[in-house]
Amino acid sequence: MPQPCQQLPVEDPQRFGAPGVHARQRAWVEVDEKAIENNARALGRWLAPESSLMAVVKADGYGHGAAPVARAAMAGGATSLGVATLQEGIELRQSGLKAPVLVMGNLIHPDELRSCLEWELMPTISGMREALLCQNLASGSGRSMALHLKLDTGMARLGVDWSDGVRLLQALHGLEATHLAGIYSHLADADSPDPGGGGLTAVQQQRFESVLRGAVELGLPTGVRHLANSAGTLRCRQLHYDLVRVGLALYGQSPAEHLSHAVSLQPAMSVRARVCLIREVPAGVGVSYGHRYRTRRPTRLAVVTIGYADGVPRLLSNQQEVLFAGRRLAQVGAITMDQLLIDATEAPQLEVGSVVTLLGDDGDERISPQDWAQATGTIPWEILCGFKHRLPRLHLGEAERDR
Ligand SMILES: *Cc1c(COP(=O)(O)O)cnc(C)c1O
Repeated sequence: MPQPCQQLPVEDPQRFGAPGVHARQRAWVEVDEKAIENNARALGRWLAPESSLMAVVKADGYGHGAAPVARAAMAGGATSLGVATLQEGIELRQSGLKAPVLVMGNLIHPDELRSCLEWELMPTISGMREALLCQNLASGSGRSMALHLKLDTGMARLGVDWSDGVRLLQALHGLEATHLAGIYSHLADADSPDPGGGGLTAVQQQRFESVLRGAVELGLPTGVRHLANSAGTLRCRQLHYDLVRVGLALYGQSPAEHLSHAVSLQPAMSVRARVCLIREVPAGVGVSYGHRYRTRRPTRLAVVTIGYADGVPRLLSNQQEVLFAGRRLAQVGAITMDQLLIDATEAPQLEVGSVVTLLGDDGDERISPQDWAQATGTIPWEILCGFKHRLPRLHLGEAERDR
């Protein structure tokens, strides 16, 4: 029979307190802002001389917190910010950020575009319809509205087809209340190895170039030219143009193994959670829903207070480890909504209130979003964006990081 529950002791801040973490806190996301600043600086050194860094902070800064990430990236040399939605752009302005902000999603309603004008956010234009809405809004306001034109060069998502690019540039040139602050496209396959160099990225770049040449021939201004995401940025400098739009790499993750050597990146996110209960069980005990794990020996089972409602994918059940005191402990049984279980038999010093690391470093060990992505058939982007607001974001300054 399982032994009776161990009680959570009266709060002991020394024993329970990772700095900045209240003893009541069950689980949290730690964000190392210095890592983000350092990544921005390292990326800046890697960029072609004429190119500058846009920090992509959509989806709440890939789960790290948009405004603090934006500040850290700008401290490291980023000069502009990219978001996906209007609301994300407004929130950056409301938090006091003054840098140029590009909204990369397609805004369609006049009210959305009016908000762009009011908050000084640059919308992405994929066609004449939205361009004319901007012209009408801006001419009524007496202000000029800055736009970026998006070309579709092979992603088949947003943007005007590249073969219509020059024609649209001409039409935009005639709208006197707007001005073109930039022209860009998005790479669909920049993270795939392409030893021959004739793959989709090359095709997209040729199409992009052909529109740029057409603009030069007709004397049409384009504003800043940009094409590269993280993968394009790490892949080759010919893709850098005047600006690169970097998300994943800014957060310290490489888009692909073969691209991980160009720039040395520091992961900015760690996910940690507390042990809330420990029980000793004999061999042969079924663990968690469906008894998908059965103990093979007398086992010290520990309950960790994080689950799939916090963003730990249930698909990781029985195939993940957590870190404690520099060693790996197996996660066992189905991951549940609010808790998961680990086998702590080999870690007698683990106790109620101990903190384990789900993602991040502990001693010489590291568990990365790539590890989770590989095990669940997804990509690190989705892992980072998957942590829910139930997990508070703990932003580490210098002192806490060096503990
Ligand atoms: C999200 C996004 C990026 C950043 O992509 P990463 O791969 O995370 O660097 C760049 N450009 C556009 C248009 C995006 O939507």
